[in-house]
Amino acid sequence: MIREAEVVVIGGGVHGTSAAYHLARAGKQVVLVERETIGSGASGQSGGIIRCHYSNETMVRLAHRAAVRWPGLADELGHPVDYVRNGMVVNVAEEDADNMRRIVEMQQRVGVDTRVVAPDEVRRWIPEFRADGLALATYEAQAGYADPYSTAVAFARKARELGAQVLTGTTVTGIELDGTAVRAVVTDKGAIRTPVVVNCAGAWADRIARMVGVEIPVRPGLLQMVAFNPRYPGWTGTSPTWTDMTTMTYCRPDTAGLMLAGGGLSENEALETEDLDPDSYPSRPPDMFEAEIYENLTRRCPWAEDMRRVRSWAGPDGNSPDYHLIFGPVPGIRGYLQVVGGSGNSFKLSPATGEAVAEYVTTGTCTYLDLEAFSLARFEKDRPFRGGYRMHIVG
Ligand SMILES: Cc1cc2nc3c(=O)[nH]c(=O)nc-3n(C[C@H](O)[C@H](O)[C@H](O)COP(=O)(O)OP(=O)(O)OC[C@H]3O[C@@H](n4cnc5c(N)ncnc54)[C@H](O)[C@@H]3O)c2cc1C
Repeated sequence: MIREAEVVVIGGGVHGTSAAYHLARAGKQVVLVERETIGSGASGQSGGIIRCHYSNETMVRLAHRAAVRWPGLADELGHPVDYVRNGMVVNVAEEDADNMRRIVEMQQRVGVDTRVVAPDEVRRWIPEFRADGLALATYEAQAGYADPYSTAVAFARKARELGAQVLTGTTVTGIELDGTAVRAVVTDKGAIRTPVVVNCAGAWADRIARMVGVEIPVRPGLLQMVAFNPRYPGWTGTSPTWTDMTTMTYCRPDTAGLMLAGGGLSENEALETEDLDPDSYPSRPPDMFEAEIYENLTRRCPWAEDMRRVRSWAGPDGNSPDYHLIFGPVPGIRGYLQVVGGSGNSFKLSPATGEAVAEYVTTGTCTYLDLEAFSLARFEKDRPFRGGYRMHIVG
């Protein structure tokens, strides 16, 4: 096993593999350490939705930075990521209509191809859509989806082709410090001397942070999805992703025309309260979750009433208190960097987070990612991300 590296990245999800790829592309000698297999954490279970519809400008800018790269990512990496551009509809009731108008204006200023539409107009993209009780909707033309597992594998493969070492089946058990500077990453297969370590350990990130004496407010939480077969010719692989803000439910097609759905009020409540062990969690959502999602979808899409459940699954992600990423260094620990707190919405950001890691490691700064806004210190300073909607499903 390699014993020395310029950078060690911990975690083979989309953030770790993207970081390894961008670091290798920048000429760094990098080792990626993954305790199981690439994509075995949240990244392998993700819904894979790619959108810029966030309600605060900092997040929109980061999502947009990533969004413009998704269509060309497979060519860039030389491996498939199964990206499909399908557009996205978001709808709100009256209490969020003014918020939506403000948010869409802000997104347009950033450069997102999105617009406000009347709820009835949604039928252009979702046939027979029942718009009763809704006040407003948006259509984001450049939204899409990709296969999260393939994406993690593609980043890792390209990183390896560029000279990175990718160690799977290898667990990080400690980080050695020289005073307050990182000296080595200790694994169950031996130590790797390095001045820089990047914590991309998802739902396990707090354990890695503790190895350098840092407490991070990242709690493992469970996200769940169910795949239905709508058996309806009007729903295809390019039907739009749809988020109903009134029920916090979302769905998107897959390339075979299934409908992959998640969210719901009960999952959201559980995220606030549950105490999850990321090493032991139910791999299937409870029937109650599936019933709630089914009801929320069919309320607006009558043609979905006959749809058949195909499968369902769950995966753990690291949640931060404001449900947004924590990115960057931690003052007082030289050589420690973290991309943590994916909070159920960070897959789409991965092309941009890896790029930011490489820029930070090579230059000591980030030109497009707001280090202050994404810092761990934002919680102490009472400056968390604040959502612009009453419901926080889109962030
Ligand atoms: C069901 C579900 C649906 C989602 N839907 C979407 C969506 O539609 N759009 C979106 O943008 N986001 C979505 N997300 C969120 C997104 O998938 C995650 O935020 C993102 O994948 C997190 O990536 P990661 O690299 O931080 O973590 P992970 O993919 O969890 O990777 C962390 C890795 O670290 C490894 N690790 C842990 N401890 C150690 C150790 N000691 N040594 C070595 N390795 C270690 C783990 O094995 C794991 O592979 C969803 C998530 C889930 C679970």
